[in-house]
Amino acid sequence: MRPSRYDVVIAGGGHNGLTAAAYLARAGRSVLVLERQDQVGGVAVSARAFDGVDARLSRYSYLVSLLPDTIVADLGLRVELRPRRIASYTPAGAGGLLIDDGDTARTAASFAALTGDGRDWDSWQRFYAAMGNLARRIFPTMTEPLRSRAELRALAGDDATWVYRRDESLRLPRAQTFVLTDDGIPYLRPELVFLFKAKAMRPKDELDFVTALPRLDLPWLHRLLDPNHPWLRT
Ligand SMILES: Cc1cc2nc3c(=O)[nH]c(=O)nc-3n(C[C@H](O)[C@H](O)[C@H](O)COP(=O)(O)OP(=O)(O)OC[C@H]3O[C@@H](n4cnc5c(N)ncnc54)[C@H](O)[C@@H]3O)c2cc1C
Repeated sequence: MRPSRYDVVIAGGGHNGLTAAAYLARAGRSVLVLERQDQVGGVAVSARAFDGVDARLSRYSYLVSLLPDTIVADLGLRVELRPRRIASYTPAGAGGLLIDDGDTARTAASFAALTGDGRDWDSWQRFYAAMGNLARRIFPTMTEPLRSRAELRALAGDDATWVYRRDESLRLPRAQTFVLTDDGIPYLRPELVFLFKAKAMRPKDELDFVTALPRLDLPWLHRLLDPNHPWLRT
């Protein structure tokens, strides 16, 4: 029979709710998970997405790369995860951009075919390597209490990549980085995107910036961008 009292009640049976419930139960607590839908799993569920096609696909979360091995081991999960060789394919231009983690030459050729020279490939390799180094140091802390920004920065040991070091002005409160649609759906403030473009000053972004300028919230932009910025003078 169901108990009438629980040590912990969790609203929502997404993967975080289920994981928390499993850990609490293992620690001897009685737990009730309340889920409003017919199934648990939240966004991380697979479903037969297409009528007549007997294939189960993830409808939203498509990578399980953030599931730490520690949790799999702690909870005795019977799940086998396999890395995929093709990291991504982005339809763009005539042939798209293919990132093949098993074939560097193929990825380099895909970059060259799309961008016409090796510069983007070089930049991307540097970025990928920097992110890899950062992830190898930070990821193991995900199952620990959240560290402070200063602690994480020290752990990362790579000040060149640490974004906050790059531009203090981009340390904005969350409410200033998002705006809402009429339906209340949050999206990234366009001014922020254009701020990044203006600060990086890549020639290819200038036309975008100047064209969008009349539609942007100029007072917002002016607080963060040098009023003498050349793109503001056009
Ligand atoms: C489009 C998209 C793509 C993503 N891709 C990835 C990816 O590739 N890899 C990755 O790691 N992460 C991805 N994420 C993020 C990941 O899906 C979420 O971080 C994760 O699902 C959060 O889990 P959760 O348990 O906190 O919440 P959710 O999965 O959102 O689950 C919340 C649950 O709570 C239930 N609920 C809500 N309110 C109530 C209520 N009042 N009463 C009862 N039940 C309630 C909901 O029905 C739902 O089942 C993606 C997210 C989106 C939207």
